[in-house]
Amino acid sequence: MRILVAEDDPSLAEGLMRSLRQSGYAVDCVTNGEEADAALDANEFDLLILDLGLPKRSGLEVLKRLRSRKSATPVLILTARDSVNDRVTGLDAGADDYLAKPFELAELAARVRALTRRGMAGGSARISHGALTYDQVGRLARLNGEPVEFSARELGLLEIFLQRAGRLVSKDQLVNHLCEWGEEVSGNAIEVYVHRLRKKLEPGGVRIVTVRGLGYSLEKPEPQ
Ligand code: CA
Repeated sequence: MRILVAEDDPSLAEGLMRSLRQSGYAVDCVTNGEEADAALDANEFDLLILDLGLPKRSGLEVLKRLRSRKSATPVLILTARDSVNDRVTGLDAGADDYLAKPFELAELAARVRALTRRGMAGGSARISHGALTYDQVGRLARLNGEPVEFSARELGLLEIFLQRAGRLVSKDQLVNHLCEWGEEVSGNAIEVYVHRLRKKLEPGGVRIVTVRGLGYSLEKPEPQ
């Protein structure tokens, strides 16, 4: 999953990016409101972490523009400790959650998990898909109860597929949600990752089908 961090404090931005990458997210960072706007216009992110006090264009303005483009991207706003007004205004403008600075990275991580899993299986931390169960907190996948080892890339792909079970996912979408700016991942590499993921899921009857020329789809499990 891919997150955009819009934060102009370099050390905070650096800390956020490091921590989020450790949790397995692809992370891009912008340092002012205009860049944030442009990035959100050009890419589809799974979450925006938005400092309200940004130069060039305020975080609130960025948020309003995002929602006026009918984007449903979840937004976590970062506000100054005592600014109750900012929080209320931000939530009213379409933010999904907020954190007051300074905050603990562990709390940020928990909120990020909660926001990014909303799209998955009704927002539960534990997803079941046929013989597959996936624990989003520990990022642990089990097939028929047995743990399965996945590489970071394979887990990233699995999360994208679980979020869109039964729906067509194009290669471009996979690249977009898996990779940060400047990361080169070709269509061929995606095919290789999907192939590996498929091999590991097959023994449990969990199938990723190829939709010729269009992309892939994680088949919905048979009703029990
Ligand atoms: Ca700031």
